[in-house]
Amino acid sequence: MTHIPFLDINTPHAELEGEFLAVFREALRTGRFVGGPEVEGFEQDFADFCDTDYCVGVGSGTDALRFALIAAGVQAPNDIVITVPNTFIATTEAISQAGATPAFVDIDPKTYNMDANKLEDYLKKHSALRSMRSACVPKAVIPVHLYGQMADMDPILEIAQKYNLIVIEDACQAHGAEYFSRREDRWKKAGSMGKAAAFSFYPGKNLGACGEGGAVMTNDNEVARKIRMLRDHGQVKKYFHEMDGYNGRLDAIQAGFLRIKFRHLPQWNEKRRQNAYLYNKLLSSLDEVQTPYEPEWTKSVYHLYVIRAQNRDDLQKYLLENQISTGLHYPVPLHLQKAYKNLGHRAGDFPVSEKIAKEILSLPMYPDLTGQQQERVVETIKKWITV
Ligand SMILES: *Cc1c(COP(=O)(O)O)cnc(C)c1O
Repeated sequence: MTHIPFLDINTPHAELEGEFLAVFREALRTGRFVGGPEVEGFEQDFADFCDTDYCVGVGSGTDALRFALIAAGVQAPNDIVITVPNTFIATTEAISQAGATPAFVDIDPKTYNMDANKLEDYLKKHSALRSMRSACVPKAVIPVHLYGQMADMDPILEIAQKYNLIVIEDACQAHGAEYFSRREDRWKKAGSMGKAAAFSFYPGKNLGACGEGGAVMTNDNEVARKIRMLRDHGQVKKYFHEMDGYNGRLDAIQAGFLRIKFRHLPQWNEKRRQNAYLYNKLLSSLDEVQTPYEPEWTKSVYHLYVIRAQNRDDLQKYLLENQISTGLHYPVPLHLQKAYKNLGHRAGDFPVSEKIAKEILSLPMYPDLTGQQQERVVETIKKWITV
């Protein structure tokens, strides 16, 4: 019995090896490892792809989120930045590292993304309390497009406007995802809807480097200018520092690799979608597992294919015993992490996030996953149900 891995980044890399080597040789020949035409070329490609005016390449998705927040004006400990508890910790790390304070609102039980009603409830409650309490002010919101599916942006943008919040999209799992805006009556790209958006090019993402990388997207010229400074020690030009910045640049070799892989992204995303629909079909007769919900107003790019099952841990163990690796995204909601003990949350504070954390299971998902492999995954799930 062969092993079915949870992730396969080796197959596409083997196919592109010749092109990667050419990029590497060119970098050795020119000695251009930081900045230069590869970085600028990739930024142009990716801005066109996301329908934004600017793309600024940075060192990671975490850099992208942190820089986007700072450039948009978030910085004081009294600034509250609202996000969801069921995301990768980088979302909230960026908030604390920007100098602000994270706060959570719960998610929608069907999409697993931010529940706009909960966002509004939080803001209403907060403005009622404000006169009596601290000087903390909700300043920004980070909707996360989790698993490759966009959060319901229309109501989130409307509420943000009403309460004067900056919107930063965490699009780190959503390269190429789309959202149908009922307000604008058209499809929009992930990363084009907020004040700014963050992408990660960590190797396992839908578009991944062969190392670290990230990008901030924006239509705001001033935000783009600030991020170009923040990634490079706050420099406007060499040794002239307008602000205190970071070392957070996108590596030129990685930008070259990303340009090569970028050309395949639409076709890889399409393959992921086809794989998701095959899983949906094969799993449709099973009451014991719940397949992902894709509303008609989104086109998910299935960074992850996440099912739900009672006795999830037992199912995961059974699959592994049968040579099938799976993942958990994520097993512990952020408000219950030890790292955020200081926020004072308790079990029960965000019941939807807490419930799904116990039931979710990410099945193998990548463009090169075959129909036969998917059938074996589903057959094994069926066996687990009957044993
Ligand atoms: C991967 C990821 C990040 C962070 O990206 P890095 O490139 O690893 O820093 C942030 N948010 C989400 C939702 C992610 O999946």
